[in-house]
Amino acid sequence: MNDSVRPAAGPTDLPSESGASAPIVVVGSINADLSTRVSRHPRPGETLHGTGGQVRPGGKGANQAAAAALMGGRVAMVGAVGTDAMASDALSVLEGSGADLTAVRRVDGPTGLAVVTVSEDGENTIVVVPGANGAMDADAVGACSEVIASARVVVLQGEIPREGIEAAARLATGRVILNPAPVLELDAEVLCSADPLVVNEHEAALVLAQLTAGPGSVDGLSPADLARALHEAGIRTLVLTLGAAGALVGTPTADGWDLQEAPGLSVDAVDTTGAGDAFVGALAVRLSEDAALVDAARFATRVAAASVTRDGAQSSYPREGEGLPGNG
Ligand code: ADP
Repeated sequence: MNDSVRPAAGPTDLPSESGASAPIVVVGSINADLSTRVSRHPRPGETLHGTGGQVRPGGKGANQAAAAALMGGRVAMVGAVGTDAMASDALSVLEGSGADLTAVRRVDGPTGLAVVTVSEDGENTIVVVPGANGAMDADAVGACSEVIASARVVVLQGEIPREGIEAAARLATGRVILNPAPVLELDAEVLCSADPLVVNEHEAALVLAQLTAGPGSVDGLSPADLARALHEAGIRTLVLTLGAAGALVGTPTADGWDLQEAPGLSVDAVDTTGAGDAFVGALAVRLSEDAALVDAARFATRVAAASVTRDGAQSSYPREGEGLPGNG
């Protein structure tokens, strides 16, 4: 890593001396996604012909920041790109989204890279090379402490080092949306203080295993049972995303815990890459406006549903003012 990091080029419409400043701060990964389409996924050792081969912007952090900014949220991104040509691909949508990129650093070496393969039936395989995202350790995150501490909503995922995620969660004075994807070992205190923790069913099972210190079978558990099990293991507020079925929203109440639905919206799904990130970005926008969590999640299902009707991740995200599936 180059110690003399410098900001990547980008719009700086939000004035700040020491870096970015915004109600929504996303601390996370920035990748270039190399995506290909295949009729089916290759077996080990097999070579198949594919189509596509475009390099597009990705990374869960950048995706969520772009989704939120395109939906009208005031967003600052804290992250890192490399010194290679992929960096400009990685930032191409974020730069035009209105997000403040002052706190995006450029470090020696490659930009994070994700190699995405989408089969005809819409299933993805994804291999992620962390590259510059690996530089987002506790020190790099700590250098942005003012930006993080002044945010109303801090959004975190699992694609930067554990120490960076935990440092950001501890620096936050506002609400922390934690989307531990991919799931990595995180301090239980950080997991349990998330407000909300956003996980799909697969991630939910892994987080539950961590919190209960055992593999604990989740086979046969309904999504509602899984949500309750997470709550009993210490999770305070939860959004459990269920693909086309939408999401379940668990919140503490005066006398316990309440589980509500954010039903999925029926759309013609073309590509679900980045749908979870569209969901989280939209959730952050509404939570930064003090919406109730269930209302924010219902809005997020509309934004995520719009995103699956188009190809790609950031390229599929709707803009503020665009018609969305569903009512309202
Ligand atoms: P992830 O992409 O993180 O695995 P999910 O598959 O649960 O997460 O999708 C996240 C959200 O995207 C869902 O809660 C839902 O709102 C929306 N979504 C995903 N797939 C579809 C689909 N086929 N139709 C409509 N909405 C979808």
